[in-house]
Amino acid sequence: MKFIDTHCHLTDERLGPVEDVLARAGEAGVVALICATASIPDSAAAAEIAGRYDQVWCTAGIHPHDAKDAGEDYLERLEELAGNPKNVAIGEIGLDYHYDFSPRDVQRRVFAEQLALACRLEKPVAVHTREAFEDTLAVINDVGAGGEKILFHSFTGGPDEAGRVLDIGAYVSYSGIATFKNADAIRAGAVLVPDDRIIIETDAPYLSPEPVRKMQINEPSNVVHVAECLAAVRRTTPETLAEQTTANAIRFFALR
Ligand SMILES: [Zn+2]
Repeated sequence: MKFIDTHCHLTDERLGPVEDVLARAGEAGVVALICATASIPDSAAAAEIAGRYDQVWCTAGIHPHDAKDAGEDYLERLEELAGNPKNVAIGEIGLDYHYDFSPRDVQRRVFAEQLALACRLEKPVAVHTREAFEDTLAVINDVGAGGEKILFHSFTGGPDEAGRVLDIGAYVSYSGIATFKNADAIRAGAVLVPDDRIIIETDAPYLSPEPVRKMQINEPSNVVHVAECLAAVRRTTPETLAEQTTANAIRFFALR
């Protein structure tokens, strides 16, 4: 089986040496990894890692937590980073009203500006949304971003929210959260996602999936557990789920 971990934070030092993480991922069948990013320095570090390893790709973006520290020239910096040959998306960008680490109006402005940049550059977008679902859809609508270029990463919505995301043509990515015992609503939503729009990720070092949830540091090799859980829920085999999600990730991110 071949998997793609479409969202992992390889720049996070808690993961330990990147070559070891990549070796374990390779043994688990992870053939490609997309390093997600949260700030300008983080995006530059991700590009550096992606430059060193064939199977690693990177994004560039300002996380909603970091929106208040984006800096005046951040859009120019992002455009530069997006021009890197290993860059495949703008992200993770969006809104997080759970922590509110940045003021909400600043989060909305920085999200909208990055979405508009992604549209202009014709880049896919990895969206983070937490307790901000309505406003996230409103910003996407206001900017006029096409849903087929948008991936809702680590999706935690139930059937209603999944339906609304699918209605705008977006892709949906599931992480370890979907495997948690109390995540019945998320799994009920995952059943509704068409075979050609479902994607998987770890969000490592966060969110270790069941049955390894006790692992304090999650890592890309664990994407196999996310795949197994989703396959069971969707009444298909892990092999089929792996094929579908890998093909979808290659298409969505235009991996070569
Ligand atoms: Zn993330």
